[in-house]
Amino acid sequence: MHSFTYDALPGRVVFGTGVARTGLAAEVERLGASKVLLIASDRDAERVRALTAPFADRIAAVFTAVREHVPVATAEAAREAAVGADAVLCVGGGSTVGAAKAVALTTRLPILAVPTTYAGSEVTPIWGLSEDGVKTTGTDPVVLPRTVVYDPELTASLPPELARASALNAMAHCVEVFWAPRRNPVSSVIAEEGVRALAGGLRDEDPEQLLLGAYLAGSAFAVAGSGLHHKLAHVLGGLGLPHARSHATLLPHVLAFNAPGSPEATTRIARALGCDDAVAGLRAVVAAAGMPAGLRELGLRGDQLDEVAGRTEKVVPADNPVPVGGGAMRRLVQQAWEGTT
Ligand code: NAD
Repeated sequence: MHSFTYDALPGRVVFGTGVARTGLAAEVERLGASKVLLIASDRDAERVRALTAPFADRIAAVFTAVREHVPVATAEAAREAAVGADAVLCVGGGSTVGAAKAVALTTRLPILAVPTTYAGSEVTPIWGLSEDGVKTTGTDPVVLPRTVVYDPELTASLPPELARASALNAMAHCVEVFWAPRRNPVSSVIAEEGVRALAGGLRDEDPEQLLLGAYLAGSAFAVAGSGLHHKLAHVLGGLGLPHARSHATLLPHVLAFNAPGSPEATTRIARALGCDDAVAGLRAVVAAAGMPAGLRELGLRGDQLDEVAGRTEKVVPADNPVPVGGGAMRRLVQQAWEGTT
């Protein structure tokens, strides 16, 4: 076995069907918060009102102008809304958690996160902001939510196609863990179990398994870091492609590319999927989820492929299991765009 470093991340996790309805007030109390900034998009207004009714007197302000990839202007508006608050409660997907993180980054306010998708941002110390087609990310422990309340009742309302795309976004976190820069045996165990839970949840359309898988995926990814897949997805996000579906579409192509150099990934993923061939198994999961085969179906234009490959190649970790130089990255992007293998 190689030597490794494992940085355990702090955070309290409360998981269970109905816990957002029955336990959120106690978690706010536990944080000692009395002037809460609530961040949730208008889409969810009615449900969020019901969830926060037991501690409505502690909600000092509400911010609803959530946007994907946290434009700088959104971050600034959310920070203004946070003036005078002593905690941030966010109820929503990765974009909502992202807005809360943008607030915490400058104010150091503690975050209580209630995710409604499988994106996993709530267990990572990674923040992101976007401006002029470029997404900037960074890592700061101050943005890692103090408490996460995982309630499958909340993800059950996701439209089926979005639920499947989001679950595959979580699957991408797991797959990447096996070759990520800070890969380690602990994260690999968690990621393998995450693949199992997510594949089972997709098969059974079971929000509880999917949400558990999403938590495992996010926490493994948070420790292991981001590699080729997330670097590519990050560049696509900056160009305005939809987050979860880009991950879902990209994933089998990246696994096929890296598979020859990462026997741990192929062995563990195949075992978790219950098949002999990890690449074929993952392709089948993505196809069964009804995801587009190629990025062109998500709006990426052919004249953008050089830019995507060029920008990604500069930031891929040097120890990616398969070298990306000599035109290999451009070929991967072409295949992912066309949907060919
Ligand atoms: P999202 O939060 O943008 O949500 C997608 C859509 O689904 C939105 O329209 C939202 O209103 C809707 N939605 C959310 N939950 C719903 C529910 N339960 N029922 C019905 N509709 C619902 O998308 P996302 O994929 O969750 O997050 C994407 C963002 O999160 C990106 O900006 C991405 O970069 C970021 N992200 C960050 C990290 C990190 O570690 N920092 C990790 C993953 C994702």
